[in-house]
Amino acid sequence: MKHTLIELPYAYNALEPYLDGYTMEIHHSRHHQTYVDKLNAALEKYPDLQEKPIEELLKNLATLQVEETDRTAIRNHGGGVINHNLFWQNMNPANIADSQLISEINHTFKSLEEFKKAFTDSAVKLFGSGWTFLVRNEQNQLEFYNLSNQDSPYSKNHTPILALDIWEHAYYLKFQNKRVDYIENWWKVIKMI
Ligand code: MN
Repeated sequence: MKHTLIELPYAYNALEPYLDGYTMEIHHSRHHQTYVDKLNAALEKYPDLQEKPIEELLKNLATLQVEETDRTAIRNHGGGVINHNLFWQNMNPANIADSQLISEINHTFKSLEEFKKAFTDSAVKLFGSGWTFLVRNEQNQLEFYNLSNQDSPYSKNHTPILALDIWEHAYYLKFQNKRVDYIENWWKVIKMI
């Protein structure tokens, strides 16, 4: 069984004027597709692993019975696949406010505004390519942090809730080097909180 690219549950231009359709199309149909293809290539020699959910592969990355180059490829491309899956889901215009999550954020980070500010600061400071995640940790508490490349919170045994792509391919066509503007526009399409 091969992994496949998920379809977006909305049109490429559905997030305009905040995020543009052209970037969305390239990002999904080329960048995300490439992670899917390279993950499948990395799993080619391991039919038993092809059947496992990507989350499980990333949780157990260190103990997978694979060659080291394949472990690296599974880490990079498996992460690339599921990080983007969550990224698209988070931005679905059909999402509605999650009052449970909002109340937990208020409790954990003082207020929603404080949380957004701190999460944004973290994303702005990320050096190079990576992601900023809101996660549920092993104590079932909320926290947020940056990870480099396509690393996944699942490899830390955390469950990601919000995923913000900070690779330049996510914003360069519209925002060039203005990462802060990209992040401000990204918040506008996050309806969950
Ligand atoms: Mn991306």
